[in-house]
Amino acid sequence: MKFDLQGIGMTSRRTRMRLIDRLRQDGISDEQVLTIMADVPRHIFVDEALAHRAYENTALPIGHSQTISQPYIVARMTELLSGGLELDRVLEVGTGSGYQGAILAHLAKQVFTVERIEPLLDRARKRYAALKLNNIHTKLADGHWGWPEKGPFDAIMVTAAPEVLPEELLGQLKVGGRLVIPVGEDGKQYLSVITRQEEGFDEELVEPVRFVPLLGGVVR
Ligand code: SAH
Repeated sequence: MKFDLQGIGMTSRRTRMRLIDRLRQDGISDEQVLTIMADVPRHIFVDEALAHRAYENTALPIGHSQTISQPYIVARMTELLSGGLELDRVLEVGTGSGYQGAILAHLAKQVFTVERIEPLLDRARKRYAALKLNNIHTKLADGHWGWPEKGPFDAIMVTAAPEVLPEELLGQLKVGGRLVIPVGEDGKQYLSVITRQEEGFDEELVEPVRFVPLLGGVVR
């Protein structure tokens, strides 16, 4: 793969800034998140044939029936995850294109990301290398089980929707840590933020969302 990191025309700085204005209008208010989203080139995370649409506020196909999430959702989940927290170690479940992980890599010291489809993970790894994002660590695995050897985490983000909350992930949160996750069956998913307290967990339902399902097993 060759990468045009700067971007021209439909992937230029000006095109990117139009997306940032749109995110602001849609209620994203965390300036640090907006700055990072202006800097990370989303067109690197989609096929060349779709690069001209990379700064539209829409999800786009990345192959294997998966999608790179809509920029609004990436921004929203990122601000929910990071707001007011010092992020040392963050786990992402569902690497996909690698875009969300790249955003997280600018907020956290170390990012751990797990994907179940090997060809997608391979492409994401190449993008991380091209962008010199050396603080991202990847693993081919079923993310229902998190990444216990690398935890506990300050925050966990899941970018595919389970029908019920995977309990394993809760145990890999630090006290005060947050899990941002879409939960529910297709058509009835809610974005949820779960915070680990000294004893037990708090849950806040944020807004209805539409994600691909969190599936089991690994695809090579
Ligand atoms: N964060 C991604 C979004 C990709 S879509 C991005 O920025 O592009 C969700 C991804 O979750 C898909 O790649 C899908 O293969 C992956 N996924 C689904 N179930 C999974 C599981 N159990 N473990 C790990 N990854 C999973």
